[in-house]
Amino acid sequence: MGWSLLIRNGTVVDGSGAPGYAADVAVEGDRIVAIERRLVGEARRTIDAAGFTVAPGFIDIHSHSDLFYLGCPAAESKLRQGVTTEVVGMCSFSPAPVHPARKAVTAAWIGEIGSRLAVEWETFGQYLERLRQAKPSINIVHFVGHGALRLAALGPENRPPSAGEQQAMERLLDEALEAGAFGFSTGLVYPPSAYAATVELVALAKSMARRGGLYFSHIRGEAATLEAAIDEAIQIGEGAGVSVQIAHIKASGRENWNKMDAALRKVSDARARGLDVHADVYPYTAGSTKMANLLPAWVHDGGNARLLDRLTDGAARRRLVEECAAGGEAWRSVNGSLGWGDIMIATCSRPEREGLRLSELAARMRKPAAEAMLDLLLEEEGQVAMVVFSQAEENVAKALAHPHVMIGSDSIGLSVGPGPHRGKPHPRMYGTFPRVLGHYTRERRLFSVETAINKMTGMPAAKLRLNHRGLIRTGWAADLTLFDPKTVKDEATYADPHRHPTGIPYVIVNGQVVVDNGVMKPLPAGRVLTA
Ligand SMILES: [Zn+2]
Repeated sequence: MGWSLLIRNGTVVDGSGAPGYAADVAVEGDRIVAIERRLVGEARRTIDAAGFTVAPGFIDIHSHSDLFYLGCPAAESKLRQGVTTEVVGMCSFSPAPVHPARKAVTAAWIGEIGSRLAVEWETFGQYLERLRQAKPSINIVHFVGHGALRLAALGPENRPPSAGEQQAMERLLDEALEAGAFGFSTGLVYPPSAYAATVELVALAKSMARRGGLYFSHIRGEAATLEAAIDEAIQIGEGAGVSVQIAHIKASGRENWNKMDAALRKVSDARARGLDVHADVYPYTAGSTKMANLLPAWVHDGGNARLLDRLTDGAARRRLVEECAAGGEAWRSVNGSLGWGDIMIATCSRPEREGLRLSELAARMRKPAAEAMLDLLLEEEGQVAMVVFSQAEENVAKALAHPHVMIGSDSIGLSVGPGPHRGKPHPRMYGTFPRVLGHYTRERRLFSVETAINKMTGMPAAKLRLNHRGLIRTGWAADLTLFDPKTVKDEATYADPHRHPTGIPYVIVNGQVVVDNGVMKPLPAGRVLTA
Protein backbone atom coordinates (compact mmCIF):
# COMPACT_ATOMS: atom_id res chain seq x y z
CA MET A 1 0.00 0.00 0.00
CA GLY A 2 1.23 3.50 -0.78
CA TRP A 3 0.73 7.02 0.42
CA SER A 4 -1.58 9.29 -1.50
CA LEU A 5 1.06 12.01 -1.72
CA LEU A 6 4.78 12.27 -1.05
CA ILE A 7 6.57 15.62 -0.93
CA ARG A 8 10.29 15.03 -1.37
CA ASN A 9 13.44 17.07 -0.81
CA GLY A 10 11.84 20.18 0.69
CA THR A 11 12.78 22.24 3.72
CA VAL A 12 10.10 21.80 6.35
CA VAL A 13 9.27 24.93 8.33
CA ASP A 14 6.74 23.43 10.67
CA GLY A 15 4.82 26.53 11.80
CA SER A 16 5.97 26.48 15.43
CA GLY A 17 8.77 28.98 14.86
CA ALA A 18 11.41 26.24 15.14
CA PRO A 19 14.22 26.22 12.56
CA GLY A 20 13.50 24.61 9.21
CA TYR A 21 14.95 21.20 8.40
CA ALA A 22 15.31 18.95 5.40
CA ALA A 23 12.62 16.26 5.28
CA ASP A 24 10.15 14.41 3.12
CA VAL A 25 6.47 14.62 4.06
CA ALA A 26 4.03 11.78 3.37
CA VAL A 27 0.28 12.28 3.20
CA GLU A 28 -2.40 9.63 3.31
CA GLY A 29 -5.90 10.93 2.60
CA ASP A 30 -6.34 14.14 4.57
CA ARG A 31 -3.55 13.56 7.12
CA ILE A 32 0.21 13.93 7.35
CA VAL A 33 1.41 10.42 8.18
CA ALA A 34 5.22 10.63 8.09
CA ILE A 35 7.95 13.27 8.24
CA GLU A 36 11.49 12.00 7.81
CA ARG A 37 14.78 12.83 6.21
CA ARG A 38 14.55 10.19 3.49
CA LEU A 39 11.23 8.41 3.47
CA VAL A 40 11.20 5.05 1.75
CA GLY A 41 7.89 4.00 0.29
CA GLU A 42 5.51 4.20 -2.62
CA ALA A 43 3.14 7.06 -3.25
CA ARG A 44 0.44 7.54 -5.86
CA ARG A 45 1.80 11.05 -6.45
CA THR A 46 5.20 12.55 -5.69
CA ILE A 47 6.04 16.27 -5.73
CA ASP A 48 9.71 17.20 -5.89
CA ALA A 49 10.07 20.13 -3.48
CA ALA A 50 13.82 20.67 -3.92
CA GLY A 51 14.49 24.37 -3.27
CA PHE A 52 11.02 24.89 -1.79
CA THR A 53 9.92 25.59 1.74
CA VAL A 54 7.19 23.20 2.92
CA ALA A 55 4.98 25.08 5.37
CA PRO A 56 1.60 24.44 6.95
CA GLY A 57 -1.17 26.02 4.89
CA PHE A 58 -1.57 29.66 5.86
CA ILE A 59 -4.45 30.76 8.05
CA ASP A 60 -5.96 34.12 7.14
CA ILE A 61 -7.01 35.17 10.64
CA HIS A 62 -9.14 38.03 9.35
CA SER A 63 -11.07 37.59 6.11
CA HIS A 64 -14.29 38.93 4.62
CA SER A 65 -15.07 36.16 2.14
CA ASP A 66 -18.49 35.49 3.75
CA LEU A 67 -21.23 34.98 1.19
CA PHE A 68 -18.77 35.15 -1.66
CA TYR A 69 -18.28 31.45 -1.03
CA LEU A 70 -21.84 30.82 -2.18
CA GLY A 71 -21.14 32.46 -5.53
CA CYS A 72 -17.48 31.53 -5.91
CA PRO A 73 -16.47 28.74 -3.55
CA ALA A 74 -12.98 28.42 -4.99
CA ALA A 75 -11.59 31.53 -3.21
CA GLU A 76 -8.76 31.49 -5.72
CA SER A 77 -7.08 34.75 -4.73
CA LYS A 78 -6.57 33.33 -1.23
CA LEU A 79 -5.51 29.81 -2.19
CA ARG A 80 -2.98 31.16 -4.68
CA GLN A 81 -1.36 32.99 -1.74
CA GLY A 82 -1.02 29.70 0.14
CA VAL A 83 -4.01 30.30 2.40
CA THR A 84 -5.81 27.05 3.27
CA THR A 85 -8.07 28.35 6.08
CA GLU A 86 -9.94 31.64 6.30
CA VAL A 87 -11.48 33.16 9.40
CA VAL A 88 -14.70 34.97 8.49
CA GLY A 89 -17.67 36.60 10.20
CA MET A 90 -15.42 39.52 11.07
CA CYS A 91 -15.97 43.19 11.99
CA SER A 92 -19.56 42.51 13.21
CA PHE A 93 -20.68 41.13 9.82
CA SER A 94 -22.01 37.63 9.38
CA PRO A 95 -24.80 36.33 7.16
CA ALA A 96 -26.59 34.69 10.12
CA PRO A 97 -28.54 34.61 12.33
CA VAL A 98 -31.46 36.34 10.63
CA HIS A 99 -34.80 37.29 12.19
CA PRO A 100 -37.51 35.94 9.86
CA ALA A 101 -39.26 39.33 9.83
CA ARG A 102 -36.04 41.22 9.08
CA LYS A 103 -34.58 39.24 6.17
CA ALA A 104 -34.60 42.26 3.85
CA VAL A 105 -32.85 44.46 6.43
CA THR A 106 -30.18 41.83 6.98
CA ALA A 107 -29.74 41.23 3.24
CA ALA A 108 -29.23 44.96 2.65
CA TRP A 109 -26.78 45.15 5.55
CA ILE A 110 -24.83 42.10 4.34
CA GLY A 111 -24.79 43.77 0.94
CA GLU A 112 -22.44 46.23 2.58
CA ILE A 113 -19.69 43.64 2.49
CA GLY A 114 -20.16 43.45 -1.23
CA SER A 115 -22.47 40.59 -2.01
CA ARG A 116 -26.17 40.41 -2.83
CA LEU A 117 -27.65 36.98 -2.38
CA ALA A 118 -30.98 35.61 -1.29
CA VAL A 119 -30.96 34.99 2.45
CA GLU A 120 -32.45 31.51 2.62
CA TRP A 121 -31.58 30.77 6.22
CA GLU A 122 -32.49 31.95 9.69
CA THR A 123 -30.26 30.19 12.20
CA PHE A 124 -26.49 30.13 12.19
CA GLY A 125 -26.60 26.34 11.86
CA GLN A 126 -28.76 26.55 8.73
CA TYR A 127 -26.35 29.03 7.23
CA LEU A 128 -23.31 26.84 7.96
CA GLU A 129 -25.15 23.95 6.30
CA ARG A 130 -25.69 26.11 3.21
CA LEU A 131 -21.99 26.95 3.26
CA ARG A 132 -21.09 23.24 3.37
CA GLN A 133 -23.34 22.64 0.36
CA ALA A 134 -21.37 25.29 -1.54
CA LYS A 135 -18.36 22.92 -1.37
CA PRO A 136 -15.63 25.49 -0.80
CA SER A 137 -12.06 24.78 -1.85
CA ILE A 138 -10.75 26.35 1.35
CA ASN A 139 -11.31 25.64 5.05
CA ILE A 140 -13.59 28.09 6.82
CA VAL A 141 -13.60 29.19 10.46
CA HIS A 142 -16.73 31.21 11.17
CA PHE A 143 -17.50 33.81 13.79
CA VAL A 144 -20.92 35.28 14.36
CA GLY A 145 -21.15 39.01 13.81
CA HIS A 146 -22.40 41.20 16.62
CA GLY A 147 -24.22 43.26 14.00
CA ALA A 148 -26.17 40.17 12.92
CA LEU A 149 -27.01 39.34 16.54
CA ARG A 150 -28.19 42.91 17.15
CA LEU A 151 -30.23 43.08 13.93
CA ALA A 152 -31.91 39.78 14.76
CA ALA A 153 -32.64 40.76 18.36
CA LEU A 154 -33.59 44.44 18.08
CA GLY A 155 -33.25 45.67 14.51
CA PRO A 156 -31.13 48.53 13.20
CA GLU A 157 -32.01 51.10 15.89
CA ASN A 158 -29.46 53.21 17.70
CA ARG A 159 -30.41 52.41 21.29
CA PRO A 160 -29.42 50.02 24.08
CA PRO A 161 -31.13 46.63 24.12
CA SER A 162 -33.86 45.94 26.64
CA ALA A 163 -33.15 43.15 29.12
CA GLY A 164 -35.16 40.79 26.94
CA GLU A 165 -33.29 41.83 23.80
CA GLN A 166 -29.94 41.37 25.53
CA GLN A 167 -31.06 37.86 26.51
CA ALA A 168 -32.14 37.22 22.92
CA MET A 169 -28.67 38.19 21.64
CA GLU A 170 -27.05 35.90 24.19
CA ARG A 171 -29.34 33.04 23.18
CA LEU A 172 -28.57 33.59 19.48
CA LEU A 173 -24.85 33.71 20.25
CA ASP A 174 -25.13 30.47 22.18
CA GLU A 175 -26.97 28.84 19.26
CA ALA A 176 -24.24 29.99 16.88
CA LEU A 177 -21.49 28.59 19.11
CA GLU A 178 -23.42 25.35 19.40
CA ALA A 179 -23.59 25.19 15.58
CA GLY A 180 -19.83 25.71 15.28
CA ALA A 181 -19.02 29.42 15.52
CA PHE A 182 -15.71 30.17 17.25
CA GLY A 183 -16.92 33.33 18.98
CA PHE A 184 -18.30 36.72 18.05
CA SER A 185 -16.87 39.78 16.34
CA THR A 186 -17.66 43.45 16.68
CA GLY A 187 -17.26 46.33 14.26
CA LEU A 188 -17.61 49.22 16.67
CA VAL A 189 -17.49 51.81 13.91
CA TYR A 190 -20.16 50.04 11.84
CA PRO A 191 -23.84 50.34 12.60
CA PRO A 192 -25.57 48.61 14.28
CA SER A 193 -22.56 47.15 16.14
CA ALA A 194 -21.38 50.71 16.86
CA TYR A 195 -24.56 51.37 18.84
CA ALA A 196 -23.48 48.97 21.59
CA ALA A 197 -22.12 50.28 24.89
CA THR A 198 -19.23 48.40 26.49
CA VAL A 199 -21.55 46.86 29.08
CA GLU A 200 -23.61 45.13 26.33
CA LEU A 201 -20.43 43.58 24.93
CA VAL A 202 -19.07 42.47 28.30
CA ALA A 203 -22.37 40.72 29.03
CA LEU A 204 -22.38 39.06 25.60
CA ALA A 205 -18.77 37.93 26.00
CA LYS A 206 -19.47 36.68 29.53
CA SER A 207 -22.32 34.56 28.21
CA MET A 208 -19.93 32.63 25.93
CA ALA A 209 -17.01 32.37 28.37
CA ARG A 210 -17.98 28.88 29.60
CA ARG A 211 -17.88 27.62 26.00
CA GLY A 212 -14.44 29.16 25.42
CA GLY A 213 -15.78 31.54 22.77
CA LEU A 214 -13.35 34.14 21.38
CA TYR A 215 -13.94 37.88 21.05
CA PHE A 216 -12.56 39.37 17.81
CA SER A 217 -12.77 43.14 17.74
CA HIS A 218 -12.73 45.77 15.07
CA ILE A 219 -12.30 48.37 17.78
CA ARG A 220 -14.23 51.60 18.29
CA GLY A 221 -11.59 53.79 16.73
CA GLU A 222 -8.32 53.40 14.85
CA ALA A 223 -7.48 57.10 14.74
CA ALA A 224 -7.79 59.76 17.47
CA THR A 225 -9.39 57.32 19.93
CA LEU A 226 -7.09 54.37 19.17
CA GLU A 227 -5.77 53.93 22.71
CA ALA A 228 -9.18 54.16 24.41
CA ALA A 229 -10.55 51.72 21.82
CA ILE A 230 -7.85 49.15 22.57
CA ASP A 231 -8.50 49.65 26.29
CA GLU A 232 -12.16 48.84 25.68
CA ALA A 233 -11.39 45.60 23.82
CA ILE A 234 -9.07 44.55 26.62
CA GLN A 235 -11.64 45.55 29.23
CA ILE A 236 -14.21 43.30 27.52
CA GLY A 237 -11.75 40.38 27.56
CA GLU A 238 -10.74 40.91 31.16
CA GLY A 239 -14.28 41.64 32.34
CA ALA A 240 -15.70 38.53 30.71
CA GLY A 241 -12.73 36.19 30.94
CA VAL A 242 -12.46 35.58 27.19
CA SER A 243 -9.63 35.60 24.68
CA VAL A 244 -9.39 38.78 22.55
CA GLN A 245 -8.13 39.53 19.06
CA ILE A 246 -7.65 43.12 17.92
CA ALA A 247 -8.36 43.19 14.20
CA HIS A 248 -6.15 44.92 11.64
CA ILE A 249 -4.32 47.00 14.22
CA LYS A 250 -3.37 50.42 12.88
CA ALA A 251 -2.96 54.09 13.66
CA SER A 252 -4.97 55.85 11.00
CA GLY A 253 -4.41 59.46 9.95
CA ARG A 254 -1.08 61.25 10.01
CA GLU A 255 -1.84 63.07 13.28
CA ASN A 256 -2.24 59.66 14.99
CA TRP A 257 0.82 57.85 13.70
CA ASN A 258 2.65 58.48 16.97
CA LYS A 259 0.03 56.42 18.84
CA MET A 260 1.15 53.04 17.46
CA ASP A 261 3.81 52.32 20.09
CA ALA A 262 1.33 52.88 22.91
CA ALA A 263 -1.25 50.72 21.15
CA LEU A 264 1.13 47.78 20.82
CA ARG A 265 2.33 48.28 24.39
CA LYS A 266 -1.25 47.93 25.61
CA VAL A 267 -1.40 44.49 24.00
CA SER A 268 1.88 43.46 25.64
CA ASP A 269 0.83 44.86 29.02
CA ALA A 270 -2.53 43.07 29.01
CA ARG A 271 -0.74 39.82 28.13
CA ALA A 272 1.61 40.40 31.06
CA ARG A 273 -1.49 40.68 33.28
CA GLY A 274 -2.65 37.31 31.98
CA LEU A 275 -5.13 38.17 29.21
CA ASP A 276 -4.92 36.05 26.06
CA VAL A 277 -4.88 38.98 23.64
CA HIS A 278 -3.38 39.18 20.17
CA ALA A 279 -3.72 41.39 17.14
CA ASP A 280 -3.48 40.98 13.40
CA VAL A 281 -2.25 43.22 10.62
CA TYR A 282 -2.08 43.37 6.82
CA PRO A 283 1.22 44.38 5.21
CA TYR A 284 0.09 47.60 3.51
CA THR A 285 -0.17 51.28 4.44
CA ALA A 286 -3.61 51.57 2.87
CA GLY A 287 -6.86 50.19 4.20
CA SER A 288 -10.10 49.56 2.37
CA THR A 289 -13.74 49.80 3.26
CA LYS A 290 -16.94 51.41 2.05
CA MET A 291 -16.56 55.09 1.25
CA ALA A 292 -19.76 55.74 3.19
CA ASN A 293 -17.81 54.84 6.32
CA LEU A 294 -16.11 58.23 5.99
CA LEU A 295 -19.41 59.74 7.11
CA PRO A 296 -20.14 60.12 10.83
CA ALA A 297 -22.51 57.81 12.70
CA TRP A 298 -25.48 60.19 12.72
CA VAL A 299 -25.62 60.11 8.91
CA HIS A 300 -26.00 56.30 9.02
CA ASP A 301 -28.70 56.21 11.67
CA GLY A 302 -31.70 54.29 10.30
CA GLY A 303 -29.91 52.63 7.39
CA ASN A 304 -28.79 53.36 3.84
CA ALA A 305 -32.05 54.92 2.61
CA ARG A 306 -31.94 57.49 5.44
CA LEU A 307 -28.29 58.12 4.64
CA LEU A 308 -29.13 58.95 1.03
CA ASP A 309 -31.98 61.22 2.20
CA ARG A 310 -29.53 63.13 4.35
CA LEU A 311 -27.12 63.57 1.42
CA THR A 312 -29.94 65.26 -0.57
CA ASP A 313 -31.22 67.34 2.35
CA GLY A 314 -29.46 70.72 2.11
CA ALA A 315 -29.37 71.35 5.85
CA ALA A 316 -28.05 67.89 6.76
CA ARG A 317 -25.50 68.09 4.00
CA ARG A 318 -24.27 71.49 5.14
CA ARG A 319 -23.96 70.21 8.71
CA LEU A 320 -21.97 67.24 7.43
CA VAL A 321 -19.54 69.36 5.42
CA GLU A 322 -19.13 71.83 8.30
CA GLU A 323 -18.38 68.98 10.68
CA CYS A 324 -15.97 67.02 8.51
CA ALA A 325 -14.34 69.16 5.83
CA ALA A 326 -11.21 70.54 7.42
CA GLY A 327 -10.78 73.80 5.52
CA GLY A 328 -11.36 72.01 2.21
CA GLU A 329 -7.95 70.32 2.37
CA ALA A 330 -8.93 67.15 4.18
CA TRP A 331 -11.85 65.21 5.56
CA ARG A 332 -12.10 64.38 9.25
CA SER A 333 -13.44 60.88 9.73
CA VAL A 334 -13.17 57.82 11.92
CA ASN A 335 -10.05 57.09 9.85
CA GLY A 336 -8.45 60.33 11.00
CA SER A 337 -7.87 63.35 8.79
CA LEU A 338 -7.47 62.24 5.20
CA GLY A 339 -6.18 64.33 2.35
CA TRP A 340 -8.32 64.09 -0.79
CA GLY A 341 -5.39 62.47 -2.57
CA ASP A 342 -5.31 59.73 0.09
CA ILE A 343 -8.74 58.38 -0.86
CA MET A 344 -8.98 56.20 -3.99
CA ILE A 345 -12.19 54.92 -5.58
CA ALA A 346 -11.82 51.12 -5.64
CA THR A 347 -15.12 49.97 -7.10
CA CYS A 348 -18.22 51.81 -8.28
CA SER A 349 -20.61 51.45 -11.21
CA ARG A 350 -18.48 53.55 -13.59
CA PRO A 351 -15.19 51.81 -14.42
CA GLU A 352 -13.59 55.05 -15.68
CA ARG A 353 -13.75 56.38 -12.13
CA GLU A 354 -12.20 53.31 -10.50
CA GLY A 355 -8.63 54.02 -9.45
CA LEU A 356 -9.18 57.79 -9.26
CA ARG A 357 -8.26 59.71 -6.13
CA LEU A 358 -11.01 61.98 -4.82
CA SER A 359 -8.78 64.96 -5.63
CA GLU A 360 -8.82 63.79 -9.27
CA LEU A 361 -12.57 63.14 -9.25
CA ALA A 362 -13.16 66.64 -7.86
CA ALA A 363 -11.07 68.14 -10.67
CA ARG A 364 -13.07 66.19 -13.26
CA MET A 365 -16.39 67.15 -11.69
CA ARG A 366 -15.22 70.77 -11.24
CA LYS A 367 -16.44 71.02 -7.67
CA PRO A 368 -14.97 70.98 -4.15
CA ALA A 369 -13.75 67.51 -3.18
CA ALA A 370 -16.24 67.13 -0.32
CA GLU A 371 -19.12 67.86 -2.71
CA ALA A 372 -17.67 65.47 -5.28
CA MET A 373 -17.49 62.69 -2.68
CA LEU A 374 -21.05 63.23 -1.47
CA ASP A 375 -22.39 63.39 -5.05
CA LEU A 376 -20.51 60.19 -5.90
CA LEU A 377 -22.05 58.44 -2.90
CA LEU A 378 -25.51 59.65 -3.92
CA GLU A 379 -25.10 58.56 -7.54
CA GLU A 380 -23.92 55.13 -6.43
CA GLU A 381 -26.59 54.84 -3.72
CA GLY A 382 -23.87 54.54 -1.10
CA GLN A 383 -22.21 51.54 -2.76
CA VAL A 384 -18.67 52.72 -3.36
CA ALA A 385 -15.61 50.86 -2.10
CA MET A 386 -12.45 52.82 -1.43
CA VAL A 387 -8.78 52.27 -0.78
CA VAL A 388 -7.52 54.77 1.77
CA PHE A 389 -3.85 55.59 2.32
CA SER A 390 -3.97 56.36 6.01
CA GLN A 391 -1.04 54.61 7.71
CA ALA A 392 2.70 54.97 8.23
CA GLU A 393 5.05 52.39 6.76
CA GLU A 394 7.10 52.22 9.94
CA ASN A 395 3.95 51.42 11.94
CA VAL A 396 3.05 48.58 9.59
CA ALA A 397 6.53 47.13 10.16
CA LYS A 398 6.25 47.60 13.93
CA ALA A 399 2.94 45.77 14.03
CA LEU A 400 4.20 42.95 11.81
CA ALA A 401 7.26 42.49 14.03
CA HIS A 402 5.35 42.47 17.34
CA PRO A 403 5.64 38.96 18.84
CA HIS A 404 1.86 38.59 19.31
CA VAL A 405 0.67 39.97 16.02
CA MET A 406 -0.34 37.62 13.21
CA ILE A 407 -1.23 38.11 9.55
CA GLY A 408 -4.78 38.79 8.37
CA SER A 409 -5.68 40.07 4.91
CA ASP A 410 -8.95 41.84 5.86
CA SER A 411 -10.12 41.01 2.33
CA ILE A 412 -12.24 38.67 0.26
CA GLY A 413 -11.20 35.67 -1.80
CA LEU A 414 -11.98 36.19 -5.46
CA SER A 415 -12.49 33.12 -7.58
CA VAL A 416 -11.89 31.88 -11.05
CA GLY A 417 -14.38 33.31 -13.47
CA PRO A 418 -14.64 34.70 -16.97
CA GLY A 419 -12.96 37.98 -17.81
CA PRO A 420 -11.03 40.37 -15.63
CA HIS A 421 -12.36 40.98 -12.16
CA ARG A 422 -13.99 44.30 -11.47
CA GLY A 423 -12.46 47.51 -10.31
CA LYS A 424 -9.33 48.32 -8.38
CA PRO A 425 -9.80 46.55 -5.06
CA HIS A 426 -7.09 46.59 -2.43
CA PRO A 427 -4.13 44.43 -3.60
CA ARG A 428 -4.14 42.63 -0.21
CA MET A 429 -6.82 40.43 -1.72
CA TYR A 430 -4.11 38.81 -3.84
CA GLY A 431 -0.86 39.72 -2.15
CA THR A 432 -0.99 39.72 1.65
CA PHE A 433 0.88 36.51 2.50
CA PRO A 434 3.48 36.57 -0.31
CA ARG A 435 4.14 40.24 0.52
CA VAL A 436 5.05 39.29 4.09
CA LEU A 437 7.29 36.47 2.83
CA GLY A 438 8.89 38.40 -0.01
CA HIS A 439 9.02 42.07 0.89
CA TYR A 440 9.10 41.95 4.69
CA THR A 441 10.95 38.66 5.29
CA ARG A 442 13.39 38.21 2.39
CA GLU A 443 14.00 41.82 1.36
CA ARG A 444 13.63 43.82 4.57
CA ARG A 445 14.66 40.99 6.93
CA LEU A 446 12.07 42.09 9.47
CA PHE A 447 12.07 38.55 10.86
CA SER A 448 13.10 35.02 9.94
CA VAL A 449 11.04 32.89 7.58
CA GLU A 450 10.25 30.65 10.57
CA THR A 451 8.77 33.59 12.47
CA ALA A 452 6.85 34.77 9.40
CA ILE A 453 5.33 31.32 8.94
CA ASN A 454 4.51 31.00 12.64
CA LYS A 455 2.51 34.25 12.33
CA MET A 456 0.55 32.68 9.45
CA THR A 457 0.06 29.17 10.86
CA GLY A 458 0.97 27.98 14.36
CA MET A 459 0.09 31.26 16.09
CA PRO A 460 -3.41 31.68 14.60
CA ALA A 461 -4.13 27.95 14.94
CA ALA A 462 -3.29 28.10 18.65
CA LYS A 463 -5.42 31.22 19.08
CA LEU A 464 -8.38 29.47 17.46
CA ARG A 465 -7.57 26.20 19.26
CA LEU A 466 -7.88 24.40 15.93
CA ASN A 467 -7.88 20.66 16.19
CA HIS A 468 -4.61 19.28 14.74
CA ARG A 469 -4.13 22.06 12.22
CA GLY A 470 -1.52 24.77 11.74
CA LEU A 471 1.67 22.76 12.26
CA ILE A 472 3.43 20.08 10.24
CA ARG A 473 3.12 17.11 12.56
CA THR A 474 2.42 13.43 12.05
CA GLY A 475 -1.32 12.84 12.37
CA TRP A 476 -2.20 16.47 11.69
CA ALA A 477 -4.30 17.78 8.79
CA ALA A 478 -2.50 17.82 5.44
CA ASP A 479 -2.93 21.54 4.80
CA LEU A 480 0.38 22.46 3.17
CA THR A 481 1.88 25.32 1.19
CA LEU A 482 5.05 24.95 -0.89
CA PHE A 483 6.82 28.15 -1.85
CA ASP A 484 10.18 29.23 -3.20
CA PRO A 485 11.77 31.46 -0.53
CA LYS A 486 14.07 33.00 -3.14
CA THR A 487 11.31 34.18 -5.46
CA VAL A 488 8.02 34.35 -3.54
CA LYS A 489 6.53 37.76 -4.26
CA ASP A 490 3.25 39.63 -4.35
CA GLU A 491 2.47 40.96 -7.83
CA ALA A 492 -0.75 42.84 -7.09
CA THR A 493 -0.46 46.64 -6.95
CA TYR A 494 -2.94 49.43 -6.28
CA ALA A 495 -2.99 50.28 -9.98
CA ASP A 496 -3.11 46.65 -11.13
CA PRO A 497 -4.53 44.58 -8.28
CA HIS A 498 -5.89 41.48 -10.02
CA ARG A 499 -2.59 39.61 -10.14
CA HIS A 500 -1.70 36.38 -8.41
CA PRO A 501 1.66 36.10 -6.66
CA THR A 502 4.68 34.22 -7.96
CA GLY A 503 6.70 31.57 -6.17
CA ILE A 504 3.86 29.55 -4.59
CA PRO A 505 3.56 26.50 -6.87
CA TYR A 506 1.65 24.05 -4.64
CA VAL A 507 -1.15 24.47 -2.13
CA ILE A 508 -2.69 21.40 -0.52
CA VAL A 509 -5.99 21.45 1.37
CA ASN A 510 -6.91 18.38 3.42
CA GLY A 511 -4.56 16.29 1.30
CA GLN A 512 -5.88 17.53 -2.06
CA VAL A 513 -3.60 19.48 -4.37
CA VAL A 514 -5.70 22.58 -5.08
CA VAL A 515 -2.91 24.72 -6.55
CA ASP A 516 -0.94 22.32 -8.69
CA ASN A 517 2.29 23.59 -10.24
CA GLY A 518 0.81 27.08 -10.25
CA VAL A 519 -2.54 26.04 -11.70
CA MET A 520 -5.73 26.44 -9.69
CA LYS A 521 -7.91 23.34 -9.44
CA PRO A 522 -11.15 24.37 -7.76
CA LEU A 523 -11.70 21.07 -5.95
CA PRO A 524 -14.24 20.88 -3.11
CA ALA A 525 -11.37 20.23 -0.70
CA GLY A 526 -12.27 22.66 2.07
CA ARG A 527 -14.27 22.12 5.24
CA VAL A 528 -16.34 24.28 7.49
CA LEU A 529 -14.38 23.84 10.70
CA THR A 530 -16.24 23.93 13.99
CA ALA A 531 -15.06 24.98 17.42
ZN1 LIG B 1 -12.65 45.51 10.31
